[in-house]
Amino acid sequence: MGLLSEGTPLQWSEVSKYVDHVREHGIIQLLHTLEKYKNRQNDPFLWGDEVEYIVVNLSDGKATLGLRQNDILGKLMLISDSENVNFHPEYGRYMIESTPLKPFDASWDSLVDLETNMRHRRQIASRYMTPTEHLVTMSSYPLLGVGHFAETEGTVKGPVTQSEFMPDDVINLHPRFPTLSSNIRERRGKKVEITVPVFHDVNTPQPWVDPLLKDRPVGVSSQEIYMDAMGFGMGCCCLQLTFQGASIDGARDLYDALAPLTPLFLALSAGSPVFRGVVADQDVRWNVISQSVDDRTDDEKKTIPKSRYDSIDCYISRKNEILNQNTDFYNDIPVLTNDKVTEQLREGGLENDPLLVQHFSHYFIRDPLVIFEELLDQDDKNSMDHFENIQTTNWQTMRFKPPPNASIGWRTEFRPCEIQFTDFENAAFCVVVVLLARTIVANKLCFYQPISQIDENMKQAHVRDPVHRAKFWVRLSVQDQDKDSKPVFKQLTLNDIFNGNDEYIGLLPLVRDYLKSPHSEPLPEKVSNKVNQYLDLLSKRASGELDTAATWIRKFINSHPDYKHDSIVTEKINFDLVTAINKIGSGEGWNTIAQSMFRGF
Ligand code: ADP
Ligand code: MG
Ligand code: MG
Ligand code: MG
Repeated sequence: MGLLSEGTPLQWSEVSKYVDHVREHGIIQLLHTLEKYKNRQNDPFLWGDEVEYIVVNLSDGKATLGLRQNDILGKLMLISDSENVNFHPEYGRYMIESTPLKPFDASWDSLVDLETNMRHRRQIASRYMTPTEHLVTMSSYPLLGVGHFAETEGTVKGPVTQSEFMPDDVINLHPRFPTLSSNIRERRGKKVEITVPVFHDVNTPQPWVDPLLKDRPVGVSSQEIYMDAMGFGMGCCCLQLTFQGASIDGARDLYDALAPLTPLFLALSAGSPVFRGVVADQDVRWNVISQSVDDRTDDEKKTIPKSRYDSIDCYISRKNEILNQNTDFYNDIPVLTNDKVTEQLREGGLENDPLLVQHFSHYFIRDPLVIFEELLDQDDKNSMDHFENIQTTNWQTMRFKPPPNASIGWRTEFRPCEIQFTDFENAAFCVVVVLLARTIVANKLCFYQPISQIDENMKQAHVRDPVHRAKFWVRLSVQDQDKDSKPVFKQLTLNDIFNGNDEYIGLLPLVRDYLKSPHSEPLPEKVSNKVNQYLDLLSKRASGELDTAATWIRKFINSHPDYKHDSIVTEKINFDLVTAINKIGSGEGWNTIAQSMFRGF
C-alpha cells in the first residue's frame, strides 16, 4: 500500500494533463535515491509479512461484510509500539491489513516468532470487533457483490464504479481509493470488465444462465462470471513478504531468484473458488485483480500485452552471470518501455545498467492514476512520492523496492500468495519462502527460466485444482552455476516440484538440506520442530494428501444440504462456510472442521 496522502485528488480529466510531469519527476526522484543509496552494502537480512483480513458480521444466520474500517483502524493505530504490531488500511472498507511493526531478522528464533506475532495481531484486532463482527482470513469472499452482502447504505450504479453489483460505499473512504477506481474507469473509457469461467456442475444449465444479470456489455461472454468493479479484485485478500537485500545487487538477485517461484506459490496457496456467488472453474484470485485494475483502453490492449497488475516481464540482476551471458534467452518476452524515461535514466547515470533501465522504464509506460493537487510540486531530492505513485500501481508478482529513507535498505517483495484461514498456514507459507530465499543465497541456486515459461506457469496456476490438474515449467538443474551450461526445462506437477522426483531435487528437500548443513548457530529444537511442521504442511498440500483451501471450500459447498449442484452459492451456504472459516481461523476446532486440510497437525 502506498502512503495515504492528504489533499484533493484530481479527476482523470485533470490527471491526464500531468502524467508526463509525474513520470519525469518520478524518475528524477528515483535517480536521487539511487545516487544516495546505490553504494549501501551489508544491510542485514530483514523480512516481514503482510496479512489481509475481512471483517464479517455473523448473526441470525446472515453474513454481511462490516464497514467500520475507520473506527476499527482508528483504535488499532493507537496500539503501543511495544506490541510490535502495525495495522494498515486496505481497498475494501471491510478490510484491514496487519504487519509486524519491526521486521524479523536472520535469527532462527524469528522463524517461530512470526506465527506468534501473527496470532497476536489477530487477537489485538479482534478486541475491537463488536460481538457479531469477526476477523476472517479468506482470499475471495464468496458473495461479494451479491444482494445485501455488506452493511452498506449505498445503492448500486454509484458514480464511482457504476457497478451493477457493488455499491460505492464498500470502498475505503479515503479519497485515494474511490478516485483510483473512477480514474481507471475514465481512463479506459468504460467500466472494468472482469470475467472468470463458470464451474459446470451436474445441474448447472448448459448454456449457463447468469441468475443476476441478463444484459452483458458487448463482447463479454454470457458463459462467464462477469464482474464490473475494482472491488471484486482489490477486495480480495493476499499474503505478501518483503525481504531486505544486503545491497542493491542483493535485492536484485533475490527478485530474480524468487520470480520463478511466484506461480508455484500462487497455485499451492489457492483459496478462491467462488466469485460473485458462482462457483468458478479456477481456484485463485490473481486474474480477477488483474482485470479489476486494468486501465488499458481497447486500442492499447492491441499493443500493451498485460494489465498493470500482472506477472513480471523481465529479470533485473546485474551480477548474475547465467543471466548476463544469456539475457535474451531468459528475458524472452517483449518488454515495452517509455523512450523518454529510458533516455532520462541513461543520462542520469544508468547508461551501463540496461536491465535496471528496462525495468523502471517498463513500469513508466503506465500513467499515474491518482494525483493530489497539493503534491504536484515536490522536493525531488527528498521526496519519492511521484516515483511511488507509478511504482505502487504496477502491481506485479514481485516488486523491487528502493530505500524510502536512510534506515531501510533495498528490498524485494514476494506478492503472489493467497491468504490462508489460519496463522499457522500463513506462517508456514512465509517461513518456507524465507527459508527458500536463504537457501538460494547460501547455495547460489539458480532458478532462471525464460520469462515466457513463468507466464505459462501463471496460466497453469489458474487451472482448477492445480495440484492435480496442472503442470509447471521448471529448470531441472537448480544447482547450476556454469554460465555456459545447457539447462533443461521440464513441466512437472506441484508434487514433483515441491517434494522432488528422480529428475528434480525439489524445493522442500532443498530447504531441508540447507537446514541440515552446518551453521554458525545450530538450529534450536523448538525451531526445527516448528519448521518441520511448516515443511510437512506444504509437502502434503503439494502431494494432494491434504487439501488446499480452494479444494476444501469446494467440498464444503458440494456437501451442503442447500447446494443444488448448479454452481450457485446461496446465502445460507455462504453463512455456514464463513462461520466455519471463522472458527478455523480463531483456532476453535480447526482440525476437526477441516480435517482434509490439517489431518496430522
Ligand atoms: P507495502 O508497501 O508492500 O504495503 P508494508 O509496509 O505494508 O509494505 O509492509 C512490508 C513488510 O516489510 C512489513 O512486514 C514490514 O515489517 C517489513 N519491513 C519493514 N522494514 C523492512 C526492511 N528494512 N526490510 C525488510 N522488510 C521490512
Ligand atoms: Mg495489502
Ligand atoms: Mg502493506
Ligand atoms: Mg505489500
